Order: sequence, then C-alpha cells, then structure tokens
Amino acid sequence: MCRHNVARSSSRLKVKKMNEKIYEIGFAGRIRIDAHSLNNEGTVGNVTEPRTIVLASGEKTDGISGEMLKHIHADALWQLAKDRKASLCSACNNLSPMKADANKKLQGMKVESALNEALTCSICDSHGFLVQDPTVNRKSTVEFGWAIGLPDKFHRDMHVHTRVASGEKSRSKGEESSVSEQMIYNRPTRSGTYAFISVFQPWRIGLNEINYTYAVEDKVRKERYELVLDAYKAMMVRLEGAMTTTRLPHFENVEGLIVKTENAMPVPLMSPISDGYAKEIEAIASPQNVQKFSSFATLMQEIDKLKTAYPYKLGAQ
Ligand SMILES: [Zn+2]
Repeated sequence: MCRHNVARSSSRLKVKKMNEKIYEIGFAGRIRIDAHSLNNEGTVGNVTEPRTIVLASGEKTDGISGEMLKHIHADALWQLAKDRKASLCSACNNLSPMKADANKKLQGMKVESALNEALTCSICDSHGFLVQDPTVNRKSTVEFGWAIGLPDKFHRDMHVHTRVASGEKSRSKGEESSVSEQMIYNRPTRSGTYAFISVFQPWRIGLNEINYTYAVEDKVRKERYELVLDAYKAMMVRLEGAMTTTRLPHFENVEGLIVKTENAMPVPLMSPISDGYAKEIEAIASPQNVQKFSSFATLMQEIDKLKTAYPYKLGAQ
C-alpha cells in the first residue's frame, strides 16, 4: 500500500472513531476493599449490623447494596454537574432525593410535556425519578447490582468501641449522672474482594419514553454522557459510603472489564462472582468492544477512552 493510501485509510479510521456511537456500556470486575463498613443493615441499640446477602448456593456473604452504589454515583454526578454548571432542577440543585417530584413547573402539565421538562435536569435524566402530579416516571440510565463479597474471600469482625469522657474514670462510685458521657458501641469492620456490575445506557440520555423523541439537543446529550462517565471515575477512585469518618476503606486491587455495544444490543454482563466471567463476556462480545483493566489507573484510562464516543441516537442514521 502506498503512503497516500495508508494516510487515507488511517484518516478514515479516525473519522470512524470520532463518530463512534455507544449504545450501552457495562462494567464487570472485582475490587478488594479492606477494613471498611461502607454499607450496613442498621443499628439496633448500640450494635450496627453489616449487610448480608444469601447467594443461590445458600452461602451467606458480605455485600454493599446497589442502592448505596447508585447513591455514591449520584453524589459524584451532582458535584461534577455543579462544577460544570450543568442544568439541574431546583431539587437536584440541592441533591434532594425528591428530584422531579419537587419541580413545581411540572404540576398541571400534560404527561409528555412534563417528561420533557423533567429531562432538562442532568440528574433527573440520568438517575430517573417518580413524579406524582402528573403521574410520570423515568427509569435510571445507570444501574448497579450489589457488590458481593466472594464467598471464600471475605472476613468480618465486630469491634467494641468506647466513647470516653475525660475525668469519667475518676468519678466517685456513688456519683450518678443522668446521661453518661461514656458510651459503648459495637461496629462491624469488613474486608473482602467484591464482585461488582453496572450498566449505563447512553442511548436513553434525554429520551422521552412516551413519544420516543429526544428532549435535549445532541450537544447536551454528549455533555451528559461525559458527565455520567466522569461520575463513574469519581466513585471508583474512592468509594464514599457509610462510616468513612472512622473506617475509610483501604482500596487495593481492582480488575475487570468494560464492555460496550455500538448498535441496539444489550451488553453481555456475566457475574464476576464466577472465575470465568471475563472469558465468557469476551466470547460473546466483539474483541474491539471489550476493554480490560487491572489497576485503578488503567480503569480511569479505559473510561477516558469511552469519552471520545457519542451517545447512540434511536432512529438516527
Ligand atoms: Zn432534577
């Protein structure tokens, strides 16, 4: 091939790459977290119980709920949206979980118009909502499964802590106080390798799913696409869950893959609980649609690579 032909074919490749459309993105991997308590069942008396999940095999293991992971993503998205001055409704501007339901502009509107109005907000659009008046709901464009501790790779302990008041020990025996400053409490600490899965559906960004037209411009769809991906980066680089003031998690290894589809096909997403998950995903998806990562740095780089693409548009050529 002459030099001109090489140049032409590489520029064609570049044009193709520049116009790459992404329909869906899936994340599947394993992350090792030590000495954390990111998610708990609740507190009864002075005992906080960790999250437990039962697998199909009947084995009990440790977990971090999808609700917690989605909340962490929403929080990261909100901070980035504020930073980039992305459009937010009055509720999402203050990270209220009410989202579009608190948007007074929607009241009295027809369902189709109410949905278009709600979709102007970056968080309502990407994370979904439920509005009561008029009744309209939107499914999130990001989905999270539980992060599940591999059954043979997790440990947990209950630790007793004491809040000690200065001078408490020197108080004489007969002396009584209505509320003791000294308090004993029990908190769990867990360590494990967790299997995680998540799906992002760029094709649905800004899509009014009543009349199946896009309520926001292509430029805004592209900005939101990058916003959601950057929120993934922000959450993966440091998970902010419960009890991080005293149980800031020790993150160690992360490994896995990102799988994407360019046309209207769902991404295959086999659970990383199983050792063969990567092989099976690779066997189903085309090799060019699978990006592997083996560290936090490569995970960040692989997410960045996705940002050069555009969200798929339903019905577009
Ligand atoms: Zn909103």
